[in-house]
Amino acid sequence: MALIRHVVNGAEFGDPERTSDIYNPATGAVQHQVIMASESDAAAAIAAAKAALPGWRSTSLTKRADVLFRARHLLTERRDELAAIITSEHGKVLSDAAGEVARGLENVEFASGLIQHLKGDYSEQISTGVDVHSVKQPVGVVGCITPFNFPVMVPLWMLASAIACGNTVVLKPSEKDPSASVFLAKVFADAGLPAGVLNVLHGDKVAVDALLDSPDVAAVSFVGSTPIAKSIYQRAAANGKRVQALGGAKNHMVVLEDADIDSAADAAVSAAYGSAGERCMAVSVLVAVGAAGDKLIPAIQKRIDDLVIGDGTDASSGMGPLVTEQHREKVLSYVTGAASEGATVVVDGSQKHFEGDGFFIGATLLDNVPLQSKTYRDEIFGPVLSVVRVDTLDDAIELINANPYGNGVAIFTRDGGAAREFEFNIEVGMVGVNVPIPVPVGSFSFGGWKNSLFGDSHIYGPESFHFYTRSKVVTSRWPEPAQSRVELAFPGNH
Ligand code: NAD
Repeated sequence: MALIRHVVNGAEFGDPERTSDIYNPATGAVQHQVIMASESDAAAAIAAAKAALPGWRSTSLTKRADVLFRARHLLTERRDELAAIITSEHGKVLSDAAGEVARGLENVEFASGLIQHLKGDYSEQISTGVDVHSVKQPVGVVGCITPFNFPVMVPLWMLASAIACGNTVVLKPSEKDPSASVFLAKVFADAGLPAGVLNVLHGDKVAVDALLDSPDVAAVSFVGSTPIAKSIYQRAAANGKRVQALGGAKNHMVVLEDADIDSAADAAVSAAYGSAGERCMAVSVLVAVGAAGDKLIPAIQKRIDDLVIGDGTDASSGMGPLVTEQHREKVLSYVTGAASEGATVVVDGSQKHFEGDGFFIGATLLDNVPLQSKTYRDEIFGPVLSVVRVDTLDDAIELINANPYGNGVAIFTRDGGAAREFEFNIEVGMVGVNVPIPVPVGSFSFGGWKNSLFGDSHIYGPESFHFYTRSKVVTSRWPEPAQSRVELAFPGNH
């Protein structure tokens, strides 16, 4: 059984005083152990990042871009290996894992354009003999804390831009699937990233608190559940750091009566049950307007019957297991409690039988889910789709805007006017029109509203170059150019 260690200053690091088991969710077997950081491990990782900062910050933009281009090339070459690592520890099917790698690569591509993104502004002769220019400089050591559900994509959301901007990084991945982060650190080292620029620190609250409290960490990027995001935001901000903390979600998909029901049903099934519902942009609530629900329910039910649930390494599987037994128990409790809360159980995923000890659960479809129920209110983070019925588009907008989360939302319709009205009025950060999971491409930034994001910067894309840099404005006065030289520049104009 392998022991997964921290990566500090380019080398494996850490004594296994405290470890945690890593499971293969498809078999339920423990396959590795990971070191859980002590305070002194965390101090060593932060010290390595601090020591690497002066060298990396003064490395030319061209050389930094070279590293990112090479990293992109190597990650593309090795994407199948990376996808296999994701599937073995997370459980999602291989095609989904490959998709995750591809979406993460968009962030490396965007960051490779750092020479353009880091350009400052210049105003000549703003006053007589006075010029003003601005530069973007790195913030320093950045702490990146990531969730289990995208062990490649979410670290790349952060570290590609953080590194491009000249910062050094301590990445604290999820302790449930940490191997992908170690792989990423090796690939970046192979791409020429100097030792200490990207360190990987495994662990839990001990490691995270050390990052939040260290005076040597200047900024914190966090992605995870809402209660933890809120506490990270408060603690890091109280310590004077800049912080972006992306939280959980309860995403709605509205289907109007004029929508193409087959495409809406396909979209609902892939967005609700893909990756076993363990996506922050998963569709959790389907809001059926008018008579749309009567057509959608049977269409979705038929697709659930055809959904193959199995080991993610099996090419025929459309959905894999949940990440841990503990999480499976939590999701099951919502499914078994839904009827007593007043929902109509159309497909009961708890009744599906699976061989072996994997953390599998069937897909669940619930109709007429009451708005006050836990099933509607909580982020379940499993393959459970709740249907809520409303009379009008206005009712749908009111219902969604009353929800405390605001990560993603989608509308399915053929009516451009209705879509525009929806886009204008909905209080959600990312909106899909006939697109169920509207994760922005790498040249835009990603972020929800309300309880889905604490802080004001969205993640990756242009906003990340803002978050990971400090602006410096220089005002300089020099003797005025001699009049004769001005005349030389404009011959004939005097
Ligand atoms: P989580 O909040 O349990 O853990 C996230 C990270 O925080 C992990 O690295 C974990 O080790 C650490 N952590 C956990 N408890 C902590 C504590 N008490 N103090 C300090 N650190 C702690 O989240 P998860 O279960 O790994 O991931 C799923 C959650 O992440 C879901 O809520 C999902 O919606 C959310 N998520 C959000 C986005 C987004 O972009 N908004 C993206 C992916 C996942």
